[in-house]
Amino acid sequence: MQSFVDRFARIYTPVVLVLAVMVAAVPPLVAGAAVATWVYRALVLLVIACPCALVISTPVSIVAALSSAARHGVLIKGGAYLERLASIRMVAFDKTGTLTKGQLTVTDVAAVGRATALDVIRLAAAVEARSAHPVAAAISRHAQALVTDLPVVRHFASLPGMGAEGEVEGRRVAIGNERYFESLRVALPAPWPQADRLRGEGKSLVFVAAGGTTLGAIAVADRPRETARETIELLRSQHVKSVAMLTGDHEQTAAAIARELNVDEYHAALLPERKRAMVESMRARHGALMMVGDGVNDAPALAAADVGVAMGAAGSDAALETADVALMSDELLKLPYALRLSRATMRNVRTNVAISLCLKAAFLALAIAGMATLWMAVLADMGATVVVVANALRLLRAR
Ligand SMILES: [Mg+2]
Repeated sequence: MQSFVDRFARIYTPVVLVLAVMVAAVPPLVAGAAVATWVYRALVLLVIACPCALVISTPVSIVAALSSAARHGVLIKGGAYLERLASIRMVAFDKTGTLTKGQLTVTDVAAVGRATALDVIRLAAAVEARSAHPVAAAISRHAQALVTDLPVVRHFASLPGMGAEGEVEGRRVAIGNERYFESLRVALPAPWPQADRLRGEGKSLVFVAAGGTTLGAIAVADRPRETARETIELLRSQHVKSVAMLTGDHEQTAAAIARELNVDEYHAALLPERKRAMVESMRARHGALMMVGDGVNDAPALAAADVGVAMGAAGSDAALETADVALMSDELLKLPYALRLSRATMRNVRTNVAISLCLKAAFLALAIAGMATLWMAVLADMGATVVVVANALRLLRAR
C-alpha cells in the first residue's frame, strides 16, 4: 500500500505543480484576466493539492495497528507482514509445544481388581517422587492434589528406559513400561480393554504393580492447550480454508490430537526438512500460508511460510529469530485476533486513501470554479489530515 502511495505521488506532484502554473498564467495571458485573482487561485490549488493526508494515510494506520497488536501481546516485525496476514488462506501448526502444552500430564488411571485409582496413584507417586523422568514429574503433579499421606520409599532403584521400583509400606512397588514388567515376570491383565482404549487415544501407559501383582495403569499424554480447538474454529471464520498439523511425533499420537482438535489434515513423523517441504506443497495447493511453531525444528518451515509465527514464551531463539510474528503469552487465540486486525487495517488504509483523495478532488473542483478561498483550502488540507489520523487511531481499540 505504501509503495502504491509512493508511485502515485511521483505522478501527482509534478501534475499539480504544472496545473498551478497554468492556472496562474493561462487566463491572464490568453483572456487578459486579472493577474492577482488567478495567482490567488493558483495558491489555493497548491494548498488544497498538498497531499499531506494521502502521504500519512497508510503509515498512520500501520503504526496504530502495530502498537495495538503489541499491546495485545502480538509482536509483528513490520507493516508488510501485517498486510500479508490479511491474505492468509491456510494455517499450519506444529504440534508439541504449539497446539499442545509440551508437558506430559496424567489423563487417566485404570485400576485392576480390588485396587482403587487412588491406590495406584499413591504408590506410583511414592516411588516416582525420587525419579527425574518427565512421566514421574507428571505423576507427582497429579498426586499433589489427591494424596495427602505420601508414603516413604526405601531401596529405590531406577532403570533407564524401563521404570523404577522401591519398597513402600513393606511391599515391592514397581512402575514402568511393558518391557519392564516382562523382565520382572509380572503379568498384565489380558484382555485389558481399558488399556487398549487408552492406547488407541494416543496416550502412553505406565504400569504399577505391588508385591508382584499388577494394580493398574496410569495414562499420560501431552494435552492440547485449552484454547486450541476454539482457535482453530475462529480461524475458519476468518477466511482460513484449511488447518493442518505438522509433527515429528509418531502417527498414533498425532492422529488422536488431530481428531480431537478437528484439523483438516495432519502429517506425522516429519523431520525438520520435511516440515519445510510440506509447507511449500501446501502453499502451492491453498495459497498464502501461516506457519505457527515453537521449536528449533520449526525454523525452516517458519521461514518458508508467507507469515511465520513463533510462540514467544515457549519458543526457542531460532524460532523467534526466524518468525515474522511472535505471540508473547503463547496464547493461541491471538492468532484469529491478528488476522482480524490485519483485515481491519487494510480496510482502514483503503478508507483513508479514499477520504484524502475525495476531499482533495472536491476542493479542487471548487477552487477551479473560483469558489474556494485560501483559508478554506488550509482548513480542508488540515481537516483531511485530522480525519485520516482519527480514523487510523480507531485501530487502537480493535480487538
Ligand atoms: Mg514444537
